[in-house]
Amino acid sequence: MEVNKICQFCGSRFVAQRTTTMCCSDNCAKKLYKKRKRDEKVQQVNKSVEIQEKGFDIEQIQRKEYLSIKEVMLLLDISRTSIYRMLKDGRLTKLEGFKAVRIRKADLDVLFVGKEENNETKHYILPYFNDDNYYTINDVLEEFNVSSGAFYHLCKKHNIPKIPKGKNVFVPKDLVNSIFNNE
Ligand SMILES: [Zn+2]
Repeated sequence: MEVNKICQFCGSRFVAQRTTTMCCSDNCAKKLYKKRKRDEKVQQVNKSVEIQEKGFDIEQIQRKEYLSIKEVMLLLDISRTSIYRMLKDGRLTKLEGFKAVRIRKADLDVLFVGKEENNETKHYILPYFNDDNYYTINDVLEEFNVSSGAFYHLCKKHNIPKIPKGKNVFVPKDLVNSIFNNE
């Protein structure tokens, strides 16, 4: 088999025998390998600098099963007060048997999913968190020309999960769209 490929090191065109071949020559392959190793090292150093600057490693927190208050704050980008409010009103539960407050990471994933309505538990999975999937409350007020009071009642009526993050509160676009299409 012959495949046209571009050398990943020098960028020249070459014909390879296998689809997995990445370089035009052994020489380029060696240099590419060295470059990759070097890049990996640089990345590692950059990452450890970032961790030192921030004082935490978000990836490490994401891998944990149980989280401290501080870790939940960092992960959800919400205040300590918000977390205690959620613990108080039952949206979050602290685990028994720990000296300090520990929260199950899995609980965070379902935290904002709608609760029971008409004796029927809704199984709505929150969409992945990004701008394409969520409106801020202000977006909704502008986009649908509704007052904040009216939207508040709509959220209650339709069980729209509200997600506080940083300074904003977010709502899932698909749910909000479907409400305004039906009302
Ligand atoms: Zn090459």
